[in-house]
This record gives sequence, structure tokens and C-alpha cells, in this order.
Amino acid sequence: MRPSTFLSLIAGSAHVANAAPKPATGLRLIKTSPTDPGTWVTEDQKDSDFTAKGIRFVDITDITDAQTLRVLSTDPGSVSSQRAAVTYPTTITHQSVANPIVSQVSTTSPQSWLRTFTNFQTRHYRSTYGVEASTWLFSTVKSVAAANPAIVVTQFTHSSFSQKSVIARIPGSSSASLVVVGAHLDSTGGSTTAKGPGAEDDGSGCVVILEALRVLAAAKFAPQDTLEFHFYAGEEGGLLGSADVFQSYKTAGKTVLAMLNQDMAGYSPGGKLTVYTDYVDSSLTTYVTRVATAYIGAVSTSKCGYGCSDHASARSAGFPAAYVGDEPFDSSANFIHSPQDTYDKIQWTTILRHAKFMTAFLVEASFL
Ligand SMILES: [Zn+2]
Repeated sequence: MRPSTFLSLIAGSAHVANAAPKPATGLRLIKTSPTDPGTWVTEDQKDSDFTAKGIRFVDITDITDAQTLRVLSTDPGSVSSQRAAVTYPTTITHQSVANPIVSQVSTTSPQSWLRTFTNFQTRHYRSTYGVEASTWLFSTVKSVAAANPAIVVTQFTHSSFSQKSVIARIPGSSSASLVVVGAHLDSTGGSTTAKGPGAEDDGSGCVVILEALRVLAAAKFAPQDTLEFHFYAGEEGGLLGSADVFQSYKTAGKTVLAMLNQDMAGYSPGGKLTVYTDYVDSSLTTYVTRVATAYIGAVSTSKCGYGCSDHASARSAGFPAAYVGDEPFDSSANFIHSPQDTYDKIQWTTILRHAKFMTAFLVEASFL
């Protein structure tokens, strides 16, 4: 969609302008739907009054980009957030490249990584434990990436909290345009100090994309487009880390061909990868479904609502985004955001399915 069309479609939608003026100190402005003008809350209220009650939200306190704010206040059915049209393939044609790499995927490393990752008291983005977990992940991603010296691993610093996001990049051989896969590194057990192992949410997604990085690094895979692996800080605080990352990409004028979010990948009673269809780019979602079906078989579909996870940040910033989880929303793990989200709940066949899919997706999408 051309920008002029985009702007005309979203004109007149400015619910954020109706939010109450900013109070004196320390409060955060959160939105729970496109029409919600926003509510000022304390950081602790996010946990106690929203996350604990299963109410998802986006923290818009630091979002100043008017276009991003308009998308956040626009019903997803009425506008595409895509800035630059990407034509996705209708056939899946790179199996001969992908299959040998996909065959290297295993759960050995993910089991080891998730053990350590869930042993932190919590990975809450406002806790010192959460900072330590982010630092551990940074060094672990670096050691995995070391198999291919071309890979660059960096920390992304956020201004409103001290936990850092982690980004690994495999430079493209012919394009700086980006294919991004992401998972969030933070967790919550209900407060900054409560035990929050976050095994399923979203330690599982983190070890899935880290396993994909491991096999691609070991194969010294040289993509045409640039591949990035994002581990976001502060998702449970209202998509904070991913909002900062994608706003910076927008400001820098980067091209994102596809952003695929992997939030929860280790608990699936239904046994099928689930493609989420709301607050996403529909063309990319169709392509993701094609890749998944070709490599791992039939998928389920579901919807998860406003502010559900980090794909929403990419979408709001104008980039094509999609979201895969491990199970439809209604039957997904009911023990998340609590001390019960533990390592022993993880189904390793589910992790394996997602890691194989994610590796295949990265290879296929590297030719976009
Ligand atoms: Zn999550």
C-alpha cells in the first residue's frame, strides 16, 4: 500500500489525543484496545490490575511517532500497516537448501539453555534478576554465533528500564533488507520479585530462535537478505523493548521484509503450530502458513487480541509482521505469568517442531 493511501485511511483516528494529561511523576500510559484513550497507571499496577487478570496492553508512554500512535488507535480490520509492499512467494522452492540445515535441529542445546534461563528468580524487566538474565543471554547468543565470524551480536539499550534486548544479525550477501524473527526474553511471575521462571512464556520461543541461529551459524549459511534474531526486553511491560527497536528501525529508514514473532513454543495439547491472524500482515501470514505447511504439516489458526505480543510493535511501526504460537489462544498454557511456568511443563516435541519450522522459515525468507 502506498503511503498516501495509508495516510488517508488512518486520517481522523486520533483517540490517543483524548487521553488524560500526563500526571506529575512516574506513571505510565497504557492502552488496552484501539478505542481506549489510555489510562495512567503505576508500574506495579500493570502486573496487579492488568497482567494478573489476563488483560493485555500496550505501554504508549514513550511513543511519540504520530503515525505509530494512529495505527495503535485504528481497528486492525480497517487498515494495513504495511509501508512498503512485499510480494511473498506462492510456492516454496528452497527445500534443497533448507532441508540439510533443518535436519541438524535438535533439543539438546535448547534443554541446556532453558535450564539456565528458568533458574533465574525471574526475568522481570524491572528487576536486577532480569538484567542478569539478559546479560547471560547476550553472552550465550555470542558463543552460539561464534561458529560464523560474519554474525554480529549486539545489545539494544532502552531508556525507560535497564534490561537490554539482544540482537544477532547474519549479514545478507546481496541485501541489507531484513528478515526478523523475535521472541521476548523477559518473564513475570506477578511482580518484580515473585518467582517467574517463564519456561513457556517465552523462554520456549527464545530457545527456538536460538537453536535456529545455532544450526545456521554452524552451517555458515550465507543468506541473500539480512537475517536478524531479536530477543526483546520488557514485553510483559506492554511491548516496551520491541516498540523501541522497531521505532529505531523506522527512524533509521530500514527495510523489514518480514517480522515473525515466536511467543510460546513449548506447550501444545493440540500438537499443531498455530498461526495467529489478528494485528498481523495478512500477506505475510499467508506466506508463513505456506512455509509451515510445507515443512511441518497442517497448522491451526487463532486470534489473540490487542497488545498480544511483539509482532504488534513491528506492525504499529509500519512493518509487515506475523505471529506463530504453539496452540490456539483458548487452549494455550494457563500457567503463564506465574511461578508455575516451569521447565518441567515443556514438551520437547513441540520445541523441536517450532525450531525446525523457524529454521526453514529463515532459509526460505532469506530469498525474499
Ligand atoms: Zn509472552
